[in-house]
Amino acid sequence: MIIDVHSHVGNWVPGSWHPPRPPQVAGWVRTFYDLIELPREEFLEHHLRAASEVDRMVVFAIARGDATALNDEVADYVARHPDKFIGFASVDPTVHGAVAEAERAITRLGLRGLKMSPVYQHYDPTDRDRLYPIYEMAQAQDVPILVHQATTYYQFANLTDAQPYRFDRALRDFPRLTLILAHMGAPWYAECAALVRKHPRAYADISSNFHRPWTWYQALLTFYEWGVMDKLVLATDFPVITPAAQIEHLFKANAIPRAAGLPTIPEAALERIVSRNAEEALAPIL
Ligand SMILES: [Zn+2]
Repeated sequence: MIIDVHSHVGNWVPGSWHPPRPPQVAGWVRTFYDLIELPREEFLEHHLRAASEVDRMVVFAIARGDATALNDEVADYVARHPDKFIGFASVDPTVHGAVAEAERAITRLGLRGLKMSPVYQHYDPTDRDRLYPIYEMAQAQDVPILVHQATTYYQFANLTDAQPYRFDRALRDFPRLTLILAHMGAPWYAECAALVRKHPRAYADISSNFHRPWTWYQALLTFYEWGVMDKLVLATDFPVITPAAQIEHLFKANAIPRAAGLPTIPEAALERIVSRNAEEALAPIL
């Protein structure tokens, strides 16, 4: 089964947040910001067209502040296309009641995972008082957490909280928690590979790395050399890119090494990222 584990909904979602559009941006960032500003129904058309390229697509927003209306909206959005969309909840852990809201979204609204982001929601992922009840709930309900554990161009992000190793302690304390680190932990690829190697239920999504061809190749090679290609899952960060385009970029990663006589990444391992790994990561909720 082909599953894209990472897609966003637009700015119409109440209580949702994206970092402000940077003044000088590459083409893919412009596409992202143009699309998330579209009205709901227009955005949905783009979303469904992209989702038609895969069997399932995970859909979420990023919460800032009270997330009740946000989770209601995401649940409603995905409920219209239950055969295609898998909705994830989001809560802002700095807000009182975040744990109860996460539990409501999972058990009452039928959302099947959590999207979180220390760099965008301004929290420390190792903060036990705020975060451990959320990790505990996710582990008990057997739902994955997808976390933006990578850098960002957003000036006010705390890059210390962005690093993959910040999750090592929590993953030791919650060994059955499924954690997907977005963007392969960019630019801390080796750190991310080391983390997912030691934690059986930790994975890394490949999204938003394709536009740096040399880094993209090196990141994939790093995961290959560390023996954790099975921990990489297909992800687009839609509306950054569509699944078909992301898959094309995945196989193009061997173009540079082939031309330069450098080590290539086995095609079978790349194929497995497309067709199997995400299904294994999301098995508890499928
Ligand atoms: Zn994203």
